[in-house]
Amino acid sequence: MGCLFCSIVAGSIPATIVYRDDDVVAFMDINPATPGHCLVVPTRHAEDLLAITPGDLAACTAVAQVLARRAVDELEAVGVNLINSCRAGAWQTVFHFHIHVIPRYEQDGMVLPWTPEPGDAAVIALTAASLRG
Ligand code: 5GP
Ligand code: ZN
Repeated sequence: MGCLFCSIVAGSIPATIVYRDDDVVAFMDINPATPGHCLVVPTRHAEDLLAITPGDLAACTAVAQVLARRAVDELEAVGVNLINSCRAGAWQTVFHFHIHVIPRYEQDGMVLPWTPEPGDAAVIALTAASLRG
């Protein structure tokens, strides 16, 4: 099985490209959450956030920032969400790293995927200790 986004990078599957350089390609998502929703991918295949090199991650992030700026300046978005899903357990469905750049508009229907409420202090402290390594 080939990789869908590698095929888009190679040009063997069509996509609406909005940015390209040696390291990064960005193209429109075919199932947009909002108008202007696009995907930023590295040209070198990496399965997900845990596999991509820091250099390619930085390059993708910089392009995501450029596209976020264009969404605000050119599409008159009121804000932008950058979303990355890492692994199937976190909603990833295409296993070539990508950053969703999702322009936001008044009353666009998007909602936070969690309900903010105060956490258990002990759990916060314990998980923080693990994250410090
Ligand atoms: P994920 O679910 O992995 O975070 O995001 C994958 C994204 O790829 C989805 O938003 C989906 O709409 C998009 N997608 C899936 N297949 C294609 C395709 O063939 N072309 C384009 N342009 N986007 C695709
Ligand atoms: Zn790939």
